[in-house]
Amino acid sequence: MYIDGEWLTSDSQFPVSNPASGETIGHVVDGDATHAKRAIEAASRALPGWAAQTPYARSAYLYRAYQLMLEQHSQLAELMTREQGKPLKAAMNEVKYAADFLLWFAEEAKRIYGETIPSARADQRFIVQKQPVGVVAAVTPWNYPISMLTRKLGPALAAGCSVVLKPAESTPLCAIAVFKILEEAGLPPGVANLVTSSNPKPIGDVFCTHPAVRKLTFTGSTAVGKQLATACAPQLKRVSMELGGHAPFIVFEDADPVHAAKGAALVKFLNTGQACISPNRIFVHRSIIDPFLATLTSRIAALQAGDGFNPANSIGPLINEAAIAKVDRQVQDAVARGATLLAGGSRLTDNGLENGCFYGATLLSNVSPEMLIYQEETFGPVAAVVPFDDQDDVIAMANDTTYGLAAYIYTQNLSRAYRAFEQLHFGIIGINDINPTSAAAPFGGMKESGLGREGAREGIEEYLETKLGGLSI
Ligand code: ADP
Repeated sequence: MYIDGEWLTSDSQFPVSNPASGETIGHVVDGDATHAKRAIEAASRALPGWAAQTPYARSAYLYRAYQLMLEQHSQLAELMTREQGKPLKAAMNEVKYAADFLLWFAEEAKRIYGETIPSARADQRFIVQKQPVGVVAAVTPWNYPISMLTRKLGPALAAGCSVVLKPAESTPLCAIAVFKILEEAGLPPGVANLVTSSNPKPIGDVFCTHPAVRKLTFTGSTAVGKQLATACAPQLKRVSMELGGHAPFIVFEDADPVHAAKGAALVKFLNTGQACISPNRIFVHRSIIDPFLATLTSRIAALQAGDGFNPANSIGPLINEAAIAKVDRQVQDAVARGATLLAGGSRLTDNGLENGCFYGATLLSNVSPEMLIYQEETFGPVAAVVPFDDQDDVIAMANDTTYGLAAYIYTQNLSRAYRAFEQLHFGIIGINDINPTSAAAPFGGMKESGLGREGAREGIEEYLETKLGGLSI
């Protein structure tokens, strides 16, 4: 743990394991509510000095951290593959994405503009200034264990906030590596603090109830996000929530089914399906479903699961046993209710995979609304294909979920694309595009997928208060 510029050790530790092998790869200090309080107090003490630094000074720290992250690109990616399991190439991409947030917000720090507003009174002027919201508590997930940290730390620090961060219990080593970079970049003590723990609830309770915390930013499941937002309500703490998704992937009749299937294979199995923007319901027009499924089947057959350090493997493990059980339950339920299993459908235990959490890349067709997989987020390597006949129907089916994070559409028809873009109730829409994300683009969900946006111009606003001055002259 890193509190007030010091690395703390303790006899109370918890093990961290490699999900590809089950092997223990490290031990981390097991923090509790007392540590969370100490970290918040350190952040409170550091806040005035940090907020008073010029944006140029804060920008320089972030830029230094960006450079250090790129210098350590390979080591960070290797650590990520060991701790989280994703193939090394994907880990390299993630570290780059993570560094992009540091760079982006190093730049945005200098653009925290206010405004002047004309008044109806001749003797009055209005001035509007942005100020840091205060101490920020951050809770981050394991699926993107470096970029989800910089996506919060970058804007919070740029805005002039101090931060206390609790990473996921499966991936604290990546978080430690990020904080080592912040330390090396020379960040003053207490400005960014890290509390590691195997037991998130007591830390979350302190984050949500400590009066010094003015903002909670969370990425994780919708269930936990709702609990945290509820716990923050009595003090009206500001919250940003990046929660679950249930992305539709719609392939209209005029799309190239082969191109769309290649895209679906790439985005669906990215991070072994453990992404909140992973397509969960692949709607394909009935007239082109055969070539679509043929291409998707052959692409899936070429995906090899295994240890992420072997470049031949493009699918890593799931994060733990509970994830395997959830995916398998959805697959078995779909098959029992009439879905056709075209690939995968079971855990992989041969060829050295017996100690890891591997599930075969799975393709289900004829998926229908009464199946669990049609209703729930999967977070695993399962492509669930649903045939459709009519454009209005498919938009209604796509929107028929409490989630609203990402959606994908494939069509060559510009009017259809534009109409679907406007009609879909999702915060991020890929149009013939499987990667609609960037540090420069606002990421976030509608409905129960979240509150607020990360990255882009909007990202820093989440950490700023608007202050109005009315001036009589
Ligand atoms: P997942 O099911 O994908 O692991 P979670 O929402 O459980 O997603 O985890 C995301 C983050 O939320 C992790 O850092 C985890 O430790 C944290 N978390 C889980 N439960 C709580 C809680 N009750 N209070 C605070 N943080 C929590």
